[in-house]
Amino acid sequence: MSPDPARRIVELIELLDRYSREYYEQDAPSVSDGVYDQLFRELQALEAQSPESSRSDSPTQRVGGKPVAGFLPVSHSVPMLSLDNAFSDEELLDFDRRARERLGSVEMAPIEYMCEPKLDGIAVAIRYERGVLVQAATRGDGQTGEDITHNVRTVKSIPLRLHSAETIETLEVRGEIFMPKRGFARLNELAESSGEKIFANPRNAAAGSLRQLDPSITAKRPLAFYCYGVGVTEGVTLPETQFGLLQWYKSLGLPVNVEVEAVSGIRACIDYYEQLSRRRSSLDFDIDGIVYKVNSLAEQSYLGFVSRAPRWAIARKFPAEEAVTRLIDVEFQVGRTGAITPVARLEPVSVGGVVVSNATLHNEDEIERLQIKIGDLVIVRRAGDVIPQVARALTQERQGELRSINFPTQCPVCGSPVLREEGEAVQRCSGALSCSAQRKGAIIHFVSRKAMDVEGFGEKLVDQLVEMGRLKDPGGVYSLTHSELAALPRMGSKSAQNLIDAIERSKQTTFPRFLYALGIREVGVTTADRLSKHFGDIDTLLAASTDDLLAVPDIGPIVAKHIRAFLATSANLKVVHNLLDAGLEWPEIVSSETQNAPLAGQTWVVTGKLEHLSREEASELLRSFGANVAGSVSKTTSVLLAGPGAGSKLKKAQALGVEVIDEEEFVARKSNWI
Ligand code: NAD
Repeated sequence: MSPDPARRIVELIELLDRYSREYYEQDAPSVSDGVYDQLFRELQALEAQSPESSRSDSPTQRVGGKPVAGFLPVSHSVPMLSLDNAFSDEELLDFDRRARERLGSVEMAPIEYMCEPKLDGIAVAIRYERGVLVQAATRGDGQTGEDITHNVRTVKSIPLRLHSAETIETLEVRGEIFMPKRGFARLNELAESSGEKIFANPRNAAAGSLRQLDPSITAKRPLAFYCYGVGVTEGVTLPETQFGLLQWYKSLGLPVNVEVEAVSGIRACIDYYEQLSRRRSSLDFDIDGIVYKVNSLAEQSYLGFVSRAPRWAIARKFPAEEAVTRLIDVEFQVGRTGAITPVARLEPVSVGGVVVSNATLHNEDEIERLQIKIGDLVIVRRAGDVIPQVARALTQERQGELRSINFPTQCPVCGSPVLREEGEAVQRCSGALSCSAQRKGAIIHFVSRKAMDVEGFGEKLVDQLVEMGRLKDPGGVYSLTHSELAALPRMGSKSAQNLIDAIERSKQTTFPRFLYALGIREVGVTTADRLSKHFGDIDTLLAASTDDLLAVPDIGPIVAKHIRAFLATSANLKVVHNLLDAGLEWPEIVSSETQNAPLAGQTWVVTGKLEHLSREEASELLRSFGANVAGSVSKTTSVLLAGPGAGSKLKKAQALGVEVIDEEEFVARKSNWI
């Protein structure tokens, strides 16, 4: 990110040192592990490029943090190492290739690996002498740890005495103490209700619990333990493999994670990763990846280790949901309803395996809250399918020139004043359909699938027609001609005809679709449906007062206000009339208020895959017969229409004794309702 690698190396070392102190010594990290790992890898890459700038005190050469004062030091005669990380299948395959080369088995049989969940807790070494627990220590800096024997004794799953181990002079068992998710949630609930400090995550909670000077506090914390390694031994011959070691541990009464598995070859490791990633959220403990270990202990010692990590193991980390990058600029986008959204333009960065170069900054209040400036280093977050967001700015890392972000007072597209209504966070362009951005948004919404459903009328075409001044409002769609469409670049006569046909077809619509297509603020599919059932026809709706609107089920003052405002604007009324004049038609509404509607008062749910209709079409039909169509099954559901592949809704309906019918039965009944 910085042009001078030597300077950036110094910068990164300082930064990572600070984050390590917060993480290891204070149990209070200020950035996520993903962010730490990204900066760590940047440092590793820079050090590899310019070895002359590498320093022996760099975090890339060290394990963990300094042992904390207040605990007696314990020295590790077999060092407790960290692990190298792999963030992709390619890096994992490289690891396997290097291991096979060293073992001379490139052409030979695949390596046998142990796959183990990478528990996110605290590494500990527990020393048993003649089967009795005598000492327990943290990893510390790998050479010297902290004596936490008094606290470890309180962890219920750690045996104080091993089964039939009296003859074993010394056995140093290594593993992870962690806090199961459920226990963590309970601990934080209690802390919150008594006004105490909340832990950021189960790992910090486990670390904080083990660093108590008073073991009676640790005893109250829901800690657990799984073992996965071995340190010093005396008077015992170890099994030949990691798998054998864990089996033996079990026989001694030590807890071993049930998810561990021995597999043959690196491809099977990738399968294991995929399989466990899918179940990750349902596990009762946090994991941040998978650890792969060469199974043979003899091969492990042949491979040995480098400065901070063994050559016989690697951690495949799950993709991080956060990354650091720089804010290059902020642009303001104008949406369909005039809402102005600040969009952060970022130096491209990979977050969770996807390259992100834009993120939303929501609104002016959010910019204020983030105290962010152009040129800042920022943390970008992307969880699941959520739109990338700027989580915060690393304001302490500020250098060089920064620019403030000024929210526009005039619309960046049409220049109309930007207004913010009282009690609203959003600022809007006041230009309505005179603003080309709002015009485009309104027309894109109008032709979309759930609205007028004009097949093939895409965003690019709308852009083109609006830019040319040919479309001024949604009504303009119905006056387009074949010759003017065919004259557009990259269109052709056949595509133009297809579009004209699709426009013509869309004239046969339904009242709710038409209402939804108008794009009135806060009027989604469901509200449009309620309005159409309640008022039955457009003239009654156009004449409705605010009180009339408030009488519609589920319509509150805000929605009523938006509908009234829309209908009170003459430009909007003109659009509505133009559309009606263009020949839009819909079947008369069978209002649910009308007692005669065959399904009046019934609530239906549609699930699974239907053969002749889409679920939406089936729902629309049901509504036209007066039924309410709900999204989930409950005691009030009258009938569930279930196609093949129905899952939880079907199970629930069966459990509640709700009537379930298939598509064939639905079609048969339909003929009676008409
Ligand atoms: P690591 O966590 O990547 O890997 C080593 C550790 O994995 C071991 O010490 C052990 O505790 C653990 N582990 C879990 N299951 C295991 C198993 N089955 N077998 C072997 N080991 C297992 O490396 P680290 O050196 O402990 O810590 C570095 C990591 O800590 C960073 O990658 C980062 O994620 C995190 N960190 C975060 C911050 C921050 O500010 N957020 C700061 C420093 C470090």
